[in-house]
Amino acid sequence: MADTALMHTYGRLPVAFASGQGAWLKDTEGKDYLDALSGIAVCGLGHAHPAVTEALCKQAGTLMHTSNLYRVSAQEAAAQKLTQLAGMDKVFFCNSGAEANEGAIKLARLHGHKKQIDTPQILVMDNAFHGRTLATLSATGNRKVQAGFEPLVSGFIRCPYNDLDAARSIIESRSDLAAVLIEPIQGEGGLQAASDEVMNGLRQLCDEHDLLLMLDEVQTGNGRTGHYYAYQGFNWKPDVLTTAKGLGNGFPIGAVLAQGQAAELFQPGHHGSTYGGTPLGCAVVLAVLKTLEEENLCQRASQLGERIQDRLQQQLGDLDALVEIRGRGLMIGIELDRPCTELVKLALDSGLLINVTAGSVIRLLPPLIFTDQEADQLVDRLVPLVKDWLATTSTP
Ligand SMILES: *Cc1c(COP(=O)(O)O)cnc(C)c1O
Repeated sequence: MADTALMHTYGRLPVAFASGQGAWLKDTEGKDYLDALSGIAVCGLGHAHPAVTEALCKQAGTLMHTSNLYRVSAQEAAAQKLTQLAGMDKVFFCNSGAEANEGAIKLARLHGHKKQIDTPQILVMDNAFHGRTLATLSATGNRKVQAGFEPLVSGFIRCPYNDLDAARSIIESRSDLAAVLIEPIQGEGGLQAASDEVMNGLRQLCDEHDLLLMLDEVQTGNGRTGHYYAYQGFNWKPDVLTTAKGLGNGFPIGAVLAQGQAAELFQPGHHGSTYGGTPLGCAVVLAVLKTLEEENLCQRASQLGERIQDRLQQQLGDLDALVEIRGRGLMIGIELDRPCTELVKLALDSGLLINVTAGSVIRLLPPLIFTDQEADQLVDRLVPLVKDWLATTSTP
């Protein structure tokens, strides 16, 4: 590992990128890479998208920051557009996914106290990932994320991810619950989707027990799964929705959205952020959302996702080592029967950026601006890599 002045928080791959264009990155040696990861679901519009670059440069030359002591026109405009596309009533802007989830957790606690619960609890899921701040790592269902940081923040009750009966029995047996927090598709947890039955059932249970249904759409949001937000594939709304990653296409911004009574919980003094919703960040959000809408990128994500999954199925479907190909839109997982993190480096060497999550799931999060040719190239490059690598490993 290179000895730098950086704290050693990441196991980094031995490459640095110098520039990017669309779905392509160029490293400092001049080698090109097809980006099927989008900076972990961030650069949905690809690299150096002209609409984003223009909005950012123009706003940087006009006004970057004034603080939330004053009205911020770009923030009001971004809020208008975001709530409209997301189908929610109100939004609070922050700077990251973890911060958006912190906002959601605070809303849940306010809701609980309003219900006269002294120590309101939030139901969270096994294998969930909600961030690295103390509250969000406590909500996260992965011991590796938590170990060493005890005491954890209290107020979270854990439940198996795709088990409506388990959720129901906890919800019905406790009087101190305020909310349920769940990812519609677990990104870090191995590309598992909650079934329609579970999602519909949770909405109903939350209604019956006056709990906030809070969706962490930090990874699934902003068009990636074929809707602006994954919940829009259902015929109901969550009370609270968090987003970040693709919202800024690389500019650090996040948001917590709410609807109905949850949208009225925060009052002056309850929450804030110096940088949350700067003119600069909100100009970028507006450009991102306008581009998603004008270029029909939700629909495009669905089409591309189907194309990629079909081709993967055709070419990998017969392998004994394949457990499952799954996902929605451009959030695709290929689960193998053995740990396969080695594939990340092999793909990198071959000029392809992918990721492996939960040990044995190849994770693909390509940009929504992929062409059909780029989608096909991803599959045509990945498949031989997987097959050749499998031939060198033994059955587990
Ligand atoms: C990435 C992610 C987060 C954390 O976002 P940060 O911007 O890294 O704080 C939270 N939840 C989900 C589902 C994520 O994928």
